[in-house]
Amino acid sequence: MGRQMAMVFDLNKCIGCQTCSVACKVLWTNEDGRRDMWWCSVNTQPGRGTPRDYEQMGGGYDADGKLIPGQLPSPQDFGGSSDFNWSEVHTSGNGKGHTHLQSKNGEPTWAMNWDEDEGGGEYPNAYFFYMPRICNFCSKPSCVEVCPNGAMYKRDDFGIILRDASRCKATQQCAMACPYKKIYFDTVRSTSEHCIGCFPRLEQGVAPACVRQCPGRAVFVGFRDDQAGAIQTLVDRYKVALPLHPEWNTEPNVFYVPPLSAFVVRPDGTIDESQRRIPLSYLESLFGKGVGPALCTLEEEMAKRKRRQPSELMDTLIAYNWNELLGPFDRDPASITW
Ligand code: SF4
Ligand code: SF4
Repeated sequence: MGRQMAMVFDLNKCIGCQTCSVACKVLWTNEDGRRDMWWCSVNTQPGRGTPRDYEQMGGGYDADGKLIPGQLPSPQDFGGSSDFNWSEVHTSGNGKGHTHLQSKNGEPTWAMNWDEDEGGGEYPNAYFFYMPRICNFCSKPSCVEVCPNGAMYKRDDFGIILRDASRCKATQQCAMACPYKKIYFDTVRSTSEHCIGCFPRLEQGVAPACVRQCPGRAVFVGFRDDQAGAIQTLVDRYKVALPLHPEWNTEPNVFYVPPLSAFVVRPDGTIDESQRRIPLSYLESLFGKGVGPALCTLEEEMAKRKRRQPSELMDTLIAYNWNELLGPFDRDPASITW
């Protein structure tokens, strides 16, 4: 039995800065064939996501463990890559009325985080939050099961999903079978590609780039079976970190602490402390029925701290020492000759 690396994104701390996305991009997808890829993508919720409307594209397993046929997102659904439109915005005098983005195919119609900060709800009870997404290092990866060429496999030592590029025949069945639609296509090498969990860093005891670079201290990494680790504390003991779309039945190993939102403002302008702005039904549609109990636990533990009582959960989530986020992968990458 191997070990499973896992990650937790605390959505109460994610500020949507995209540092994780860019840290990943400069490390892995900053070259021809991969420029349109965002192995780590941070979108505003509620929103249509990236690729656009991925939640309606199928894949994963039904409740009986049978594969659900999935759709292949089009390049337009991902949005392609865009350049910042410097000349139009800064020197043409059209800055206010002109898009800041310019794609190689003309005006872009979609992109990673296209629906940034739109969110849901009506003033004064509008709401949104950010949600980073990477490969989920699933324990039951539909992408591996469908590959007809045996190219996809799950590594025993970290539980990450990799691909033997020499066996990949570009049929993209993995991309159709992944319900999270986190598999991309490299047009230069003619292979499918996806987040590899920064495995060369893991092998050296260094945390993935998205974890290590996060300025919000919002991302935890560690092993699922580490009894003393933050992952066990958040996922198994306090059950405040939940998988995205558990009903897709691939058993993800990336978890999310759901967001506690501001209290509802009544029509007369007073605050209703019995209701939060993000509807519970919306959060349940993302993270399942565990959301309600998770939010209750977070509120109870926050209240303890307000009463100046100790709270192991709050101390873990706050991460006073940022190295606590890194679990066993706390080696300084600058100390290694790569
Ligand atoms: Fe959120 Fe951290 Fe990524 Fe910024 S770097 S978007 S805070 S997870
Ligand atoms: Fe495979 Fe998708 Fe799960 Fe990653 S998220 S292991 S690509 S099914």
